[in-house]
Amino acid sequence: MKIQAITLFPEMFDSITGYGVTGRALQQGLWRFEAVNPRRFADNKLGYIDDRPFGGGPGMIMMAPPIYDAIEAARTQTQSGRGRVIYLSPQGAPLTHAKAAELAQLSDLILLCGRYEGIDERLLQSSVDEEIGIGDFVVSGGELPAMMLMDAVLRLVPGVLGDVRSAEQDSFSDGLLDCPHYTRPTEFQGMAVPEVLRSGNHGLIAEWRLEQSLRRTLARRPDLLARRSLIPQEARLLQKIKQEQRDIQS
Ligand code: SAM
Repeated sequence: MKIQAITLFPEMFDSITGYGVTGRALQQGLWRFEAVNPRRFADNKLGYIDDRPFGGGPGMIMMAPPIYDAIEAARTQTQSGRGRVIYLSPQGAPLTHAKAAELAQLSDLILLCGRYEGIDERLLQSSVDEEIGIGDFVVSGGELPAMMLMDAVLRLVPGVLGDVRSAEQDSFSDGLLDCPHYTRPTEFQGMAVPEVLRSGNHGLIAEWRLEQSLRRTLARRPDLLARRSLIPQEARLLQKIKQEQRDIQS
C-alpha cells in the first residue's frame, strides 16, 4: 500500500513513519509514504496557499488551485494510477473499523489534511472522493486525524502486525469490545488475576473471554450488540448475563 498525504506539515508524519508497528512495517517495505506540500504549487514566491473567506468572517481558507495541483501531482505517483482521495474533516463520515478494513484493501490512498478554517468547497467537490472524521470535535489540522486513519488501516494490512490474531481479537473487529487482559504479577493492589486464565483449560478460557466481551459490550456499547447477530453460544451467554442483572435488581 502507498499512502500520500497532502499536508503543510510533512514533518508531523515522522511520528507514524518512524515509530512502533507502522515504522517497522515501513522499513520492511509493507507500505510506502510520501508527503506532498501544497506550498510547492503556490502562485507566489512566499508560498501562501490560503486567503481570506469571501463574505467575511474569521480565519483563512486554503485555496483550491494549489491543493488541486498537489492532488494531481500525488495521483501521478500512485502505484495503481489512481488513488482514493480522502479529506479528513469533522464533517465526514465517522472513522470505523469497517471503514479501516475497506481502505486496507486499496493499493493507494491520498489523504488531504486541512488547516485554518478548511478548504475551498469547490476543491472538495472537484477532487475529493470521500470525507472521513475522527469524532465530533474539531482539531487544528488534518494531520493527526490522517495519522489515526493510517494507523487504523495499516494494522489491518497483512504482515504489519507480528501476530494477525492481535487485530482479530481487538475491539470492533468482530462487532464486540475486547475482553480484559492481565499479565504478571498475579496479584496487584489486592486484585488477583481471574483464576480461569491460569487454569490452562483453553476451552474455558475462550468461553470466559467471550463472556467478558459480551458483558463489556452490553455495559459500554449496547448499540454494537443491537447491530450484530449472535451465534448460539453468544446468545446463551448473553441470556445468562441479563438474567444475573435481573436477579441483582430484584
Ligand atoms: N471549519 C471547519 C469545520 O468546522 O468543519 C474545521 C476546520 S479545522 C480547524 C482544520 C482542519 O482540521 C480541517 O480542515 C480538517 O482537515 C481537520 N479536522 C479538524 N477536526 C477534524 C475531525 N474531527 N476529523 C477529521 N479532521 C478534522
